[in-house]
Amino acid sequence: MPITVVGSIAYDSVKTPFGERERMLGGAAVHFALAAAFFDEVRVVGPVGEDFSEEDMAAMQQRGIDVSDVERVAGGSTFFWRGEYGWDLNTRETLDTQLGVFEGFSPKLSQRSRESEVLFLANIQPELQLDVRAQLPSVRFAALDSMNLWIDTARDALVRAVASVDCVLLNDAELRQLTGRPNLVAAARELLAWEPADGGGRGPSVIVAKQGEYGAALVTREGFFALPAYPLETVVDPTGAGDTFAGGLVGYIAANTDGAGAPLPDELLRAAMAHATVLASFNVEEFGTERVRRLTREEIDDRLMQLRLMTQFSGP
Ligand code: AMP
Repeated sequence: MPITVVGSIAYDSVKTPFGERERMLGGAAVHFALAAAFFDEVRVVGPVGEDFSEEDMAAMQQRGIDVSDVERVAGGSTFFWRGEYGWDLNTRETLDTQLGVFEGFSPKLSQRSRESEVLFLANIQPELQLDVRAQLPSVRFAALDSMNLWIDTARDALVRAVASVDCVLLNDAELRQLTGRPNLVAAARELLAWEPADGGGRGPSVIVAKQGEYGAALVTREGFFALPAYPLETVVDPTGAGDTFAGGLVGYIAANTDGAGAPLPDELLRAAMAHATVLASFNVEEFGTERVRRLTREEIDDRLMQLRLMTQFSGP
């Protein structure tokens, strides 16, 4: 099933203990799309500024990503983010966020993007996520990601956005912050009880708690599942790992279900978690999108096999 994604399309300046990059291609929607494109057709929605290069647009097109709803705003600047990581890469400080063309952006989706059966609301202002959600009212599977900035500055809209999707992906700290619950499983269970204010819709049925180098946990009404992160000796830049994870998860679900008969079976969700974990592991090996841009299907399959061997056990 084709996937429409809205979220930041960005230039990122990033410093880690292993080097730095100025204004590299980034953004939640870009990282998501590059990963999800391994599995299904992806349509990206969002604005870029005059400064956005043709080469960066081509990087998405080369993966077959539909960029016809990426709007170039005359005189505008592309979303910009600057961040710096601590020595163990577990702590990150945002030094600058410039919304640029996302400020006051009002998306007009093409017929094609509105016809997608899967929707991913990648990290961006929750009001914008809600706007796009409303333009795909009968989508079969909708998922959302967000971050602390929006929990701090736009909580009410974010609560409505969360209630409007089937699946929520958040870092463990963000889940705690959003719900005010210190226990992760309790926080996830609380989100499972959130319902759209208008009484319509379904409310979330799948919660994914991302835990960085410790992996990710899946909480549904029926069950629980967790996977460690794929163990790597070289991690260079975690930027976009969460979005790449989401691309693996949502991409796999889109390609392997017709979306009918919700809730999605646990077996499908577990396989999706494995694909997500593998995609994210490649993302962190190099800066920004560098590694995923030259990733192959064979490399994904090989690492999936390794992850399977690593996480199975036998005995009574
Ligand atoms: P992640 O490391 O998965 O949290 O995602 C990092 C990406 O999110 C970077 O490529 C940034 O451009 C983008 N980003 C950072 N802050 C924001 C924000 N407030 N809203 C949307 N995207 C953001």
